[in-house]
Amino acid sequence: MIDIHCHILPGIDDGAKTALDTLTMLKSAVDEGITTIAVSPHHNPQYNNERPLILEKVAEVQQIVRENQLPIEILPGQEVRIYGDLLQDYAAGKLVTSSDRSHYMLIEFPSNHVPKYATQLFYDMNLNGLQPILVHPERNAGIIENPDLLYEFVEQGVLSQITASSITGHFGKKIQKLSFQIIENDLTHFVASDAHNVTSRAFKMREAFEIITDQYGFSTAQMFRENGQAVIADRTIYPNSPSKIKTKKFFGLF
Ligand code: FE
Repeated sequence: MIDIHCHILPGIDDGAKTALDTLTMLKSAVDEGITTIAVSPHHNPQYNNERPLILEKVAEVQQIVRENQLPIEILPGQEVRIYGDLLQDYAAGKLVTSSDRSHYMLIEFPSNHVPKYATQLFYDMNLNGLQPILVHPERNAGIIENPDLLYEFVEQGVLSQITASSITGHFGKKIQKLSFQIIENDLTHFVASDAHNVTSRAFKMREAFEIITDQYGFSTAQMFRENGQAVIADRTIYPNSPSKIKTKKFFGLF
């Protein structure tokens, strides 16, 4: 199983602080059945991690993996907070796509709203050969309030990624329910851990996939696993057509 969203690089964001934390997370990932992690350190105003540093840190973690003979592959990647100069900075070599050899890029919104310029930027990313993957839409206040915004992005060709621990209920019942509605309406294409540690923000991938298999069957779980593989292999994904979440007016969500 591939995990395309994980804060496992030591000391560069709010994930693993030290190499020991990284090792602890690596062991947990192996226990969860994860065979490949495309790492995703933050690139945002607080943690401005750029490509050269990320590649250096990935090499460091690959060394930890070898020294400990762990059966897991570590690939580069980045979680990019959406911003106006994204394409210029990508052209300047500051940003990293998922695995650094694909055209998929993890894009995060600020948690409290959906930026107005996102539609245009996603369009421009596509023109520049990049496929945006919107991470954890189920945890964005703007999308929670108006899930049709997610439908419009997916209609536009944006892919999305749900967090495993949203499915398991770690972020509360509302976010769990919205996550299920997002899955049921073909509004998401990936399940990833967004793990930051092994305690408060753990992997939860095995548990999430058990829930998905229980509720939606093997084929849905398999679709999510195969899409993860497609990202790191840079294969095209052909998603189902999305539908809108039917809410009983505004309050239906809650
Ligand atoms: Fe993240």
